[in-house]
Amino acid sequence: MNLHLYDSPIFRMACQQFDLVADFMNIPEAARDRLKMPKRALAVSVPIRMDDGRVEVFMGYRVQHHLTLGPTKGGIRFHPDVTIGEVAALAMWMSWKCALVGLPYGGAKGGVTCDPRSLSTGELERLTRRYTQELIPVLGPQVDIPAPDVGTNEQVMAWIMDTYSLQMGHAVPGVVTGKPVLLGGSLGRKEATGRGVAYLVSRAMDTLNIQAQGATAVIQGYGNVGSVAAISMAKQGIKIIAVSDAFGGIYNANGLDLNALNEYVAKTRGVVGFPEAEPITNEQLLLTPCDILVPAALERQITGENAAQIQCRIIAEGANGPTTPEADAILAKRPEIFVIPDILCNSGGVIASYFEWVQDLQSFFWSEGEVMDKLFRLLEQSYIQTLNHAKKNSISMRFAALSLGIKRVHEAKALRGLYP
Ligand code: GLU
Repeated sequence: MNLHLYDSPIFRMACQQFDLVADFMNIPEAARDRLKMPKRALAVSVPIRMDDGRVEVFMGYRVQHHLTLGPTKGGIRFHPDVTIGEVAALAMWMSWKCALVGLPYGGAKGGVTCDPRSLSTGELERLTRRYTQELIPVLGPQVDIPAPDVGTNEQVMAWIMDTYSLQMGHAVPGVVTGKPVLLGGSLGRKEATGRGVAYLVSRAMDTLNIQAQGATAVIQGYGNVGSVAAISMAKQGIKIIAVSDAFGGIYNANGLDLNALNEYVAKTRGVVGFPEAEPITNEQLLLTPCDILVPAALERQITGENAAQIQCRIIAEGANGPTTPEADAILAKRPEIFVIPDILCNSGGVIASYFEWVQDLQSFFWSEGEVMDKLFRLLEQSYIQTLNHAKKNSISMRFAALSLGIKRVHEAKALRGLYP
């Protein structure tokens, strides 16, 4: 199979992970390309009138990985490094994630190559609306349902919902998840990924017999996932000793005061310069001794270069793809480190998205308690299944999670058969 269109370090990494698991599962060579290659990819140019009157053209993508189990689902990323290969890898991971936790979706992902921080609100709105417009033929509550990812938020989802609805001539809340609650969003969706990470961290601590009280955590990425995971872990008694964002990191051995930090971040839009902490670099942050390391930023942070020096008991992957296969090979020889793999660890987000979509389709909305209760039950079930599968087969948690997800998609494809 010619990977040319998607070829990039991250797509190669997703394929490498898939092939390792496919070897273990004895998936015949002939079935592999069908499972691995995205079903559809759309690349669009997105021309925007900038505030100064110039027209700038951005590149946008949407990749739908498989359509076997229902509509496709996955976030939209606004980031300068977005490529079609990255989007394709993230779409593939969404497929294994949805299948692992039993959602009736294939994976998808979208992205626009841009720096949202350098755009005005008006430019961001025009970019979002034009990108949505270009995607209309491949979106819809029964076709493909976007959600937030790096660089996008509730407001961006509201613009997507509005643009799509205007084209249809009536409100279609089910076309996108992670919307404001007022527009048909779900209570608990915004916090679901971070709370899910914290829930799974507490389950991993039970498994390893680590007490939350006095345990320490380091968090890379202080966005929607990292900041909520930090608050939820702190509530369990865990001390957050270091955090970082795209501009740098901060460290305080006695634990950061998260209330003060959140006020500071709301004012300055970053963690750097927080007075009650010392500055540290990203590399220092990843190597800081702690009980729980939470990569909650971008891909390929724990690598062949640094995996041997990481000093923690639990790696809780809030990000997608933070650990490379080279790092996995090193971690396999360090059984003292327990990995909660991305497709399990951050699945709280897409699970709550699924609940939002179901509520939209029924126009019947649940209390936050109901959402959280159902979320934790599904996470618990997925955690136990993954842990048991790993123990039974003496494989890593990542291998167990990926093989459970891939198996379901593989079997569903076999049941549906090959047309014509
Ligand atoms: N972007 C999130 C993820 O990577 C959420 C996707 C969704 O809710 O559809 O899982």
